[in-house]
Amino acid sequence: MADMMKEVVVTEPYHYEIREVPVPEPKDDEVLIKEMAAGVCGSDIHIYRGENPNSRYPLIPGHENVGIVVKVGKDCKKIKAGDHVVIDYVLRDGTCWQCRHGRGNVCEHVLVRGSGTDGGWREYWTAQESYVYKIDDQIPWKDAALIEPLTIGEHSTTRARVAEDDTVFIFGTGTIGTIICQACKLKGVKTIICCDISDSSLERAKRDFGADYTINSKTEDVVKRVQEITDGHGCTVAFDAAAFPGSLTFVMTPGIVCNAGRVIPLGFSTVPEKITQQMINGRELDIIGTRMSLNQWEPTAKNMAEGKYHMQGLATTFVKFEDIDQVFENIVHPDPAVKKTVILFPGAED
Ligand SMILES: [Zn+2]
Repeated sequence: MADMMKEVVVTEPYHYEIREVPVPEPKDDEVLIKEMAAGVCGSDIHIYRGENPNSRYPLIPGHENVGIVVKVGKDCKKIKAGDHVVIDYVLRDGTCWQCRHGRGNVCEHVLVRGSGTDGGWREYWTAQESYVYKIDDQIPWKDAALIEPLTIGEHSTTRARVAEDDTVFIFGTGTIGTIICQACKLKGVKTIICCDISDSSLERAKRDFGADYTINSKTEDVVKRVQEITDGHGCTVAFDAAAFPGSLTFVMTPGIVCNAGRVIPLGFSTVPEKITQQMINGRELDIIGTRMSLNQWEPTAKNMAEGKYHMQGLATTFVKFEDIDQVFENIVHPDPAVKKTVILFPGAED
């Protein structure tokens, strides 16, 4: 194994460096990971542009990480050298009220790899064994990098208590919207209505990701169509995966969500919405927050190994680690065809 390695450091907004540094040594309770693939997320883009208030600089970005364990500390018991792994990015203290009540993803002292502390855009790095999960060796690296975004679908639909007899409305059919669509299908939902302003994106949602009905909110009357599809009842669950200013208010429009419905915002927009008490209490709606994920690494990796997700087209762009400049170039000059990028490290394509 090499003594030196490369890492990507965002030194301040719009500046990054490739640094040559020694390969780290794992502590007794840590494993040394050779990074194999890393997803590029919207939050990495916000970090590079200086738009993430929780980010510190300098920072190694990257929270969608998979790799091979090359060395383990002497106290490690479940993970061995050679294991293919996915790495949890939500660091928690394990002692606060939230951690003690099964809500560790919103720990009082939560620290997130790739924004609050260094992430995985580097050739080697160490992590505590307790945050590392073994995945099936047969999963291609280019797919494995998407386990993390798929956990978002599993967690948000779990938070939403999605069940077979739900009628689900999903606003926005980008990466997260289509992932939520797949998670709902896996949970047995019969009626999923996807809504977007892009016909091609809606077609993709229907063809590949399980949407039963599609509505173009630019050209169609959304409430009227939802009422037609649901025989006048409305949807029982609505996900706002569009997450633009006003989108949450929009999904709460009477006629889209029924009485006792659940509304789940997916974004982190800081622009105030026009939501009234009447909009919530007139129908006794549940507004359910969701952040990152909890306890989803193993079930999601298992679903992927069993071929339960449609992976083709979920990532649109693959960039070699040696061509990392291209990732930053795409952030500065966005190409609409680039919806989801995965960085592939040496050996990931074999
Ligand atoms: Zn905690």
